[in-house]
Amino acid sequence: MGVEKKMSKPRFDVISIFPEYLAPLRLSLVGKAQENGLIEIGVRDLRDFAEGLHKSVDDTPYGGGAGMVMSPEPWARAIDEAAAGKEGSHELIILTPAGKKFDQGMAYELATKEHLIFACGRYEGIDYRVTEHYALQPDFTVREISIGDYVLNGGEVAALVILESIIRLIPGVIGNPASLDEESHSLVGEDEEQLVEYPSYTKPSEWRGLAVPSVLLSGNHGEIARWRAAQSEIRTKKLQK
Ligand code: SAM
Repeated sequence: MGVEKKMSKPRFDVISIFPEYLAPLRLSLVGKAQENGLIEIGVRDLRDFAEGLHKSVDDTPYGGGAGMVMSPEPWARAIDEAAAGKEGSHELIILTPAGKKFDQGMAYELATKEHLIFACGRYEGIDYRVTEHYALQPDFTVREISIGDYVLNGGEVAALVILESIIRLIPGVIGNPASLDEESHSLVGEDEEQLVEYPSYTKPSEWRGLAVPSVLLSGNHGEIARWRAAQSEIRTKKLQK
């Protein structure tokens, strides 16, 4: 299941103090999607929006405590510039381990949006007034998103994870869109529960003493579909233990 066709070309802006971290966006299917004009990606260096000799983007936390907090003004300048580059409404994604946990359902939802701006935090994170300020702007929706219950040094890796999972759902990015239908977290079982994919095999039919399940060589499509559905259920149940 891909997503419906969009009104205009989706655009993704990423803001970070380490723009080099986003270099993988030029590779593979995501890179090709840009070359083919299906999507646009912009990466901004937060320091370009900082002032002063040292282009400082952080300061000590009010209330005390360890670490530094990212100052709001450079973020607002960078976000405003990103927003000015695309007409319409903007989804501001603030990456934080304190956010809502990312999943395939969220990927499908975000893949229908025309403009996503990713704020990659560092240090102890971004002054919370950035979240509050943009939540008050009528043309912005703010989402705080986490990619899992662990703490990274920065949001760049999280942005890469989310971007890759969204962009592959955009029509035309994956050559054969049918391959999206039978994937883990898109498959649903008889009870409408989300399933992971069945195990896959390729040639040779025997490898290091291990044979491919004979049903897959039978040519009986009904039997193969039933076997795969059963395997998906078994694998999903194993994960729940
Ligand atoms: N002090 C923060 C806390 O305890 O919630 C953690 C800050 S973390 C060291 C620095 C930055 O990494 C965050 O601002 C965020 O952008 C990013 N980050 C860390 N873990 C993340 C996760 N699980 N999901 C998304 N972003 C994460």
